[in-house]
Amino acid sequence: MTARRIQQLPANVVAKIAAGEVVERPASVVKELVENSIDAGASRIDIELEQGGTELIRVVDDGSGIAADQLALAFAPHATSKLAEAEDLLALMTMGFRGEALASIAGVARVLLQSRRPDEATGHEVRCEASVLGDVRPWNGSSGTRIEVRHLFYNIPVRKTFLKSSATELGHITEVLTRLALANPTIHLNLRHNGKSVFEVPGSAGLKNRIGLFFGAEVEDALFEIDSGPSEVRLRGYVADPHCNKGNAKLQYLFVNGRWFRDRSIGHALQEAYRGLLMTGRYAVGFLYLDVPADSVDINVHPQKHEVRFRNQSSLYSLVRSTVKARLLKENFVPKFQFQSGDTEPAFAPAPSRLTPEFPAAAFPMTPRRDTSPSLFSPRRADVVSSVAPWERESLPTVPAIEAIPTVPPEPIEPVQRPELPFDLPSIPIGSALQVHDSYIVLETADGMQVIDQHALHERILYEQLRQRIVSGKLEVQRLLIPEAIDLPAPQVAIVLEMANELAQLGLEVSDFGGNTILLSSYPTLLERRSPVNILKGVIDELLNKERLPNKAALLDHLLATMACKAAVKAGDKLTQEEITHLLKLRNLAEDSHHCPHGRPTSLNFSRAQLDKQFGRI
Ligand code: ADP
Ligand code: MG
Repeated sequence: MTARRIQQLPANVVAKIAAGEVVERPASVVKELVENSIDAGASRIDIELEQGGTELIRVVDDGSGIAADQLALAFAPHATSKLAEAEDLLALMTMGFRGEALASIAGVARVLLQSRRPDEATGHEVRCEASVLGDVRPWNGSSGTRIEVRHLFYNIPVRKTFLKSSATELGHITEVLTRLALANPTIHLNLRHNGKSVFEVPGSAGLKNRIGLFFGAEVEDALFEIDSGPSEVRLRGYVADPHCNKGNAKLQYLFVNGRWFRDRSIGHALQEAYRGLLMTGRYAVGFLYLDVPADSVDINVHPQKHEVRFRNQSSLYSLVRSTVKARLLKENFVPKFQFQSGDTEPAFAPAPSRLTPEFPAAAFPMTPRRDTSPSLFSPRRADVVSSVAPWERESLPTVPAIEAIPTVPPEPIEPVQRPELPFDLPSIPIGSALQVHDSYIVLETADGMQVIDQHALHERILYEQLRQRIVSGKLEVQRLLIPEAIDLPAPQVAIVLEMANELAQLGLEVSDFGGNTILLSSYPTLLERRSPVNILKGVIDELLNKERLPNKAALLDHLLATMACKAAVKAGDKLTQEEITHLLKLRNLAEDSHHCPHGRPTSLNFSRAQLDKQFGRI
């Protein structure tokens, strides 16, 4: 083998390597191009996409344009008009400054750049494909810049195969544009995908309105304005009424000096301000805008500039927490969820006078969070599983802490004894099952007694029925005579319509009604108890968060669990005796009726022996 000489890499190879850092997927291209338009002082930016941006990304702005003799230079690596000296890095007010975006993009796509400065009679254009520059030619277009990026990654087939469906790519792009739109609330932004409008936000709407456009009226109507007051460091923006909360931190948007950023500590400060106002696993909604002196923040930490470093992180933390907290205090919200173990009435506490002193009510296994406190009652049997506090159960429908919940329902952990007779009920007929607190069903069993969580059990049953039918291709759907119209925030409409095939697999048929409205025309017959619209909305919520799921099967499974959860009876629903009987009958048909699809138990067993022991009989 001949020895290789050290040599400078050719420009196109350098660009391909650099592209790996800057250009990860279509959304990164959109971000770089729109940021360039913002830097050019544009007041209107039109973005057009085909196939999630993989076929075409076109960005048109009315900004300052690029002079003819500079056009080719825009594609040169490390060429920028925004940064001349190293000191400038400290006082950056522009979005771009590395001068590598256009060079990188042109290394992995076919780019056409057209531009005219407002003071020039004609504009010019130049092509750059896989880093090969064409000639600069005259171009007759309106003032501003127009850039087309076609066939992204056409020369890097490996990268291309990593791209997801156009719905997924469109989802990433709308997220990037949402951040830019919120950071620059006076810019008119217009996004189209495959010839259809995804959203259009006018420059005049105002920030609050803009938030409503992206996240719906429910969020907009819940917003309170915050302002820490004039000072070198200032916090402004909106936070939402605690009733308007989410199962993840996605609706916590942070901006510093007009730039979106990510910061766990500031997010934590926001959560802290809501302490006692949110249930476990729920997240506040907030749009926080920080103004800090340019030299007190370093934005050059990350190639995509997602993370920043503050000179004084801890004082920012306090500023965020105290400003938000003071605003919430003004609304007189009373903390509702500060329960310690034992704080709440045990659901099943027998009358105190009947208790022997050795067995206080707090020792009874239904006490919330029993498992965290030492208890006299220590279950040894596998099927006596500690309970979850009722308010935690109530929060199940939105499946908050997704990380903590297995996406594929777990197999039963211990072998379960299958009851031979229906429901272990030799001594009393099913009809005498008792519903308590409109949430639990209590049964006498051969061996003792059983307490069933009605929501968890129904959810499990529906989940299995849905799954069996979908797997066997026999999902029966109910057509709606009059399709239900559902209004969604504009960016969501496009994504939901892109997912129409997946939704149809679940028995949910959706179509475009125009505007921000979609039509739901069918739903699985099985789920008729609950409003089909709520079921679809639950599925949409999960779809928009689906990035965490490893594959399509896991996604489908997760969506099934969501549908089952939305359709199941809730804690607090009064059931008739027939409904209870029906639910208990269905239980025997379920493969694993002992766990809900999220892996939590559906019932607790108390053996006769345990009861006798607790009461000091044996
Ligand atoms: P950076 O934004 O970091 O300077 P880019 O590679 O994104 O680097 O852009 C290179 C240069 O091209 C910019 O500095 C700017 O002068 C010019 N440019 C790019 N896009 C536009 C635009 N839409 N309008 C005006 N000038 C632009
Ligand atoms: Mg740039």
